[in-house]
Amino acid sequence: GSVMEKVLQKRSLRMRNMQRAWQESPEGKRMLEFRKSLPAFKEKEGLLQAIARNQVIVISGETGCGKTTQIPQYVLESEIESGRGAFCSIICTQPRRISAMAVSERVSSERGEPLGETVGFKVRLEGMKGKNTHLLFCTSGILLRRLLSDRNLNGITHVFVDEIHERGMNEDFLLIVLKDLLPRRPDLRLVLMSATLNAELFSNYFGSAPTFHIPGFTYPVRAHFLEDVLEMTGYKLNSFNQIDDYGQEKISRARDSLAAWAPDCIGFNLIEAVLCHICRKERPGAVLVFMTGWEDISCLRDQLKAHPLLGDPNRILLLTCHGSMATSEQKIIFERPPPNVRKVILATNMAEASITINDVRRGRAGRVQPGECYHLYPKCVYEAFSEYQLPELLRTPLNSLCLQIKSLQVESIGEFLSAALQAPEPRAVQNAIDFLKMIGALDEKESLTHLGKFLSMLPVDPKLGKMLIMGAIFRCFDPVLTIVAGLSVRDPFLLPQDKRDLAGTAKSRFSAKDYSDHMALVRAYEGWKDAEREGSAYEYCWRNFLSAQTLQAIHSLRKQFNFILKEAGLVDTDASLNNKLSHNQALVRAVICSGLFPGIASVVHRETSMSFKTMDDGQNSVNARYQTIPYPWLVFGEKVKVNAVFIRDSTGVSDSILILFGGALSNGIQAGHLKMLDGYVDFFMDPNLSDFYLKMKEELNKLIQK
Ligand code: ADP
Ligand code: MG
Repeated sequence: GSVMEKVLQKRSLRMRNMQRAWQESPEGKRMLEFRKSLPAFKEKEGLLQAIARNQVIVISGETGCGKTTQIPQYVLESEIESGRGAFCSIICTQPRRISAMAVSERVSSERGEPLGETVGFKVRLEGMKGKNTHLLFCTSGILLRRLLSDRNLNGITHVFVDEIHERGMNEDFLLIVLKDLLPRRPDLRLVLMSATLNAELFSNYFGSAPTFHIPGFTYPVRAHFLEDVLEMTGYKLNSFNQIDDYGQEKISRARDSLAAWAPDCIGFNLIEAVLCHICRKERPGAVLVFMTGWEDISCLRDQLKAHPLLGDPNRILLLTCHGSMATSEQKIIFERPPPNVRKVILATNMAEASITINDVRRGRAGRVQPGECYHLYPKCVYEAFSEYQLPELLRTPLNSLCLQIKSLQVESIGEFLSAALQAPEPRAVQNAIDFLKMIGALDEKESLTHLGKFLSMLPVDPKLGKMLIMGAIFRCFDPVLTIVAGLSVRDPFLLPQDKRDLAGTAKSRFSAKDYSDHMALVRAYEGWKDAEREGSAYEYCWRNFLSAQTLQAIHSLRKQFNFILKEAGLVDTDASLNNKLSHNQALVRAVICSGLFPGIASVVHRETSMSFKTMDDGQNSVNARYQTIPYPWLVFGEKVKVNAVFIRDSTGVSDSILILFGGALSNGIQAGHLKMLDGYVDFFMDPNLSDFYLKMKEELNKLIQK
């Protein structure tokens, strides 16, 4: 012990000398001047004392006042100055990887050191840290995973959980685990940081922990809403009057994402018009455009590049920024453009809260200079959405939430959630657990099955995730990929009020007696790909009442899913192998059934007509157009209650498919039915080496031998 102690003491002295040398250098002095100008600096002594005296404190302060870059750094500096530098180990979590990386880089440059020395970062699949790292910025997910194997956080002296006001799921999970840990580590210091004044909630959660507010400043930001924007740009929207109704419906359907409805009715042309307006009328400064996802960003980028003003590289520096971008690419967005060139950044909303791009005005609204903010939706929608800002934990569909919790190796989901800051209804949680058992993601003891493990890694609804995995296993991957992407995005079949019949007929042309909306989707998508190759995608969409934008979104989502499944080792790198059975209709139908179960309706044939037990005939489903269908069952993805119960998309399935593929696969398969599987059994035997696959094979072999 004492030898180690001596080594650390010596290292601490060296750290102190280096820190002092930097602080006395001209560059270091200049940096210190800047740091002293931040609002957090005035509170430095008070903050250090409060942290030293309390196991938990909650700090609030406006964005930009210096919470993230300064406060953990104050602790580090004071430890080093007191000659204990080598003994401290500080972790500061960020909700997003890009902020963990940007902040660590900033802090190390404020200390005049290369990144990865005293200050480092760690995010999934990437990191820079070394044996001299004593302040580590990481994503909250990384700390959560670490807590799984290191329940006491041995060696860590301080934990900062940043941006807790956002109420991200990982942050809420972290608080549950850390609260449990505190009594076992009385020396550990926990600091929660928030950009809003809701400190009370967190303070109460930790038994009235002291709160600390940093008074600050912000620059004014003027907000413009769709109404103003239309007037400013003279842009004509075809269906502005419909937005109210449409917007309202979307709000209730997609509370969690404000942008979810916007691209549908606004489109890229308005964004283009607003950008032109800004470039012509507003004073210099960068523009940050928030988009819903990568697919939208890349479409918009292509459109803008073709524009005479916005596509001119001598006037506009067009950049993109999203979560999965490589670090080196992300750095470019922080650089200043040449004079007279305006920087336009297309970003997903992850950029909004936690990075500062010094010349942007919008985004970290008002942090570095005054600005303008254009909301491309009406004010009423903005207000409605603000009310719906729920913590992620309460917004996440319970099925996915429960799987996430299980992947943290938590024993009892219910017990874990009951310790949360705010938790969903216990009964709803129990329903989700029962559901996960039914689809085979959890076993009877509520433990994750092999299937469940894979499902927790896929960023889709567990049901759809299961469909994907089954599509991969049964070698009919492409069509299933299209169906899952389609069900995750939205229906590409348009249904204009005044042309419902024509649109319905157009859709049924894709059905070719499959009795399946899902197969119709596959055909429509494949037809679109062909038309695209021939340069006739526009006519194709127009003729068939299809939304090109939705098809494009489905296309990019397919790519993402494909990538994730490849990474997880669930599909072969050889695409033809994955699609060996894609032409087998019955099999695709069976896989659809396995994913949509227990969404089942029975078909009731009467003498003159047919009805579905839970379905009204006035739907746009291809199946609603037939007098009779040769299947006893329909599986469906979504049920809607408007006066009566409707099912949206459906696929007809036979008794045997339902028996074999409904429910947990291992429950459904019985030896007697294996004959029906004839052609498929081979594919279970195919030596794909994932655990899940082997397990399935084992179970099947057992059944076959019976
Ligand atoms: P908070 O966490 O309170 O929102 P930060 O600690 O992130 O604030 O930032 C404090 C200040 O430091 C910002 O207002 C900005 O002036 C400056 N700053 C932060 N990051 C950078 C950076 N990468 N480059 C230059 N200045 C930065
Ligand atoms: Mg911050």
